[in-house]
Amino acid sequence: MIPVYFDHNATTPLMPASIEAMNALGALPLNPSSIHACGRQARQQVEKARHAILRAMGAEGMRLIFTATGTEANHLALRGTHATRIFISAIEHPSVLKNVSQAGYIPVTAEGVVDLKALECQLQAVSVKSPGLILVSVMYANNETGVIQPMENIVELARAYGAMVHTDAVQAYGKIPLDVSRLGIDMITISAHKCGGPPGVAALVIKKSITLHPQITGGGQEQGYRAGTENVRAIVGFGAVSETISPVVDTDAKVRTLRDRLEMGIQARIAETVVIGKAAPRLPNTSCIRMPGVSNETQLIEFDLKGFAVSAGSACSSGRISVSHVLKAMHVREDDARCAIRVSLGSGNTMEEVERFVQVWAALYERMR
Ligand code: PLP
Repeated sequence: MIPVYFDHNATTPLMPASIEAMNALGALPLNPSSIHACGRQARQQVEKARHAILRAMGAEGMRLIFTATGTEANHLALRGTHATRIFISAIEHPSVLKNVSQAGYIPVTAEGVVDLKALECQLQAVSVKSPGLILVSVMYANNETGVIQPMENIVELARAYGAMVHTDAVQAYGKIPLDVSRLGIDMITISAHKCGGPPGVAALVIKKSITLHPQITGGGQEQGYRAGTENVRAIVGFGAVSETISPVVDTDAKVRTLRDRLEMGIQARIAETVVIGKAAPRLPNTSCIRMPGVSNETQLIEFDLKGFAVSAGSACSSGRISVSHVLKAMHVREDDARCAIRVSLGSGNTMEEVERFVQVWAALYERMR
């Protein structure tokens, strides 16, 4: 049985545009650093993709550095800067949380939105004390709850204190329009496998005025910022997907309708169900839902048996589900956090799948109660 895939924030199915573009390269040997015709063809493909991605996020005047993963791009942004003080939100992905030592943590509200007043106090305190470069890193949208952060206000606040802004937009790119230059963001991370592209390629986009210490040195690829032969096929797939993405037009209306129907259907059947972060602006595809009194482990097993792929917040490599640091930061009680699962939809999902999921949800809750 092929499961109904409701886990698009973990990774997405490859989009046809991506498959077609990668297949068109056949078995060509593609090293963009080679001077001969094959190398030149590879270079042209890489630059075409670079341009398509920058256009898709309204960042034409910026520099794009291809990396292998979003994790690596976050690493480069955070460790490569000359910042003497870094502030990150308490709900960041582990690829940010574990890559900064001695960060200041910005708290979030019960709805999962960065507390701007707290950030202002932190910036005020540090800018008075130390003259060095300050970096604020706040994710664009959270991977567990889908809550979108007030990036415009964050940039404005950071500017007032002379701080730089990095955003991990791995979950936002391709799901909501991103207009990076208009917002004035300094550095932004995206990853292909979260938006219908292949795994194995991601990017850090930075303002051209920024210099970073490369974290991988060697052959000098990617303008000296990231050594190693480029993954040309994957880059081409990433570029092809990006040609379908707009920095201004919201194309996820269908997914939003499905997600809203799923939440309404569940809450109509079981009034005690809580949709975490529901009052905040959210990604159109994501729902973090708590089934009162039923552990997320039990839910995942049941949904898996019934043919649905969902997850408990962030995927855990050890297979064990720990209490989500995101929900903790939102002051969700530990017992309640253990009952929350993440449903993340994609454009290939259907209303019939959503209705079936609601039935399975209600039946499980009735049985466990
Ligand atoms: N940032 C966020 C918000 C994510 O959700 C993820 C992956 O789940 C990453 C970064 C890491 O991206 P990658 O899997 O490409 O390393």
